[in-house]
Amino acid sequence: MRYEGSIYRPPSEARSYILQATIGCSWNHCTYCDMYRDKQFRVRELDETLADIELARQTYGGRIDKVFVADGDALVLDGDHWRAILDACRAAFPRLRRVSAYATAMNLLDKSEAELVALREAGLTQLYIGPESGDDVTLKKIAKGATAAQHVDAAARARAAGIKLSAIFLLGAGGRERSAEHARGSAELITGMDPDFVSALTLTVVPKTPLATLQSRGKFALPEVDALLGELRTMVDGARPTSAVFRTNHASNYLPLGGTLPADRERIVETIDRALAGDVPLRQEWMRGL
Ligand code: SF4
Repeated sequence: MRYEGSIYRPPSEARSYILQATIGCSWNHCTYCDMYRDKQFRVRELDETLADIELARQTYGGRIDKVFVADGDALVLDGDHWRAILDACRAAFPRLRRVSAYATAMNLLDKSEAELVALREAGLTQLYIGPESGDDVTLKKIAKGATAAQHVDAAARARAAGIKLSAIFLLGAGGRERSAEHARGSAELITGMDPDFVSALTLTVVPKTPLATLQSRGKFALPEVDALLGELRTMVDGARPTSAVFRTNHASNYLPLGGTLPADRERIVETIDRALAGDVPLRQEWMRGL
């Protein structure tokens, strides 16, 4: 497959065919993110993307059942571009059952419900969106580009179109200063967005990012491990989604957990409490990754 630069995908897309239809992230401002800093955002020529799909068909056509469209916010592509990709994927991969992509709240709000319905009918069935926090002060500090209320509106639009949503939150995003507000706001935002999947990652300050600069000037401090677990506890305990698969299995986390919210809330909170008491081992620093 032909890829430009580093490729990122959610853990649950490990077995998907990754199709790079955009290069980089159209927003590219989040202070903690270094994934696409070396890429100038552009939409890949449609002919090139369709040629990749044909190449994948020739090589793996009968085996591909999931396609993840990269890079950082591929939902930014316009409707015609998306439909050409989705039509080609359906024609190329007879076993196709899911096409997904990363999206920002603004990508979603830039599309009408009718446009999203058309994309879902053409095969775009799942989006990954990372509000990271439900605290507006934190969202502004990390330059997420949208408020908590805009994330709620964006999620409602996706849900109304029948597109599944996976929402990603970032433990530590508020720093020590906004830790409590970040956790409480995130619990509220999980309730407000009501996604099908929720995951929590743990913030790592990556060198050369704006956040690393703030940290070096003493203007940002990552909460201690216990405080990060406390944020997780507050989020799980306070969130009231209808029914969301919940995971903290990302390599960045100290405590890998899984279940469904709200059904498994008590069990998950109890496990976090046991971890805080030292009765459940945490992932060692050397085992953690971005
Ligand atoms: S929207 Fe996502 S990919 Fe783009 S800068 Fe923010 S975190 Fe990075």
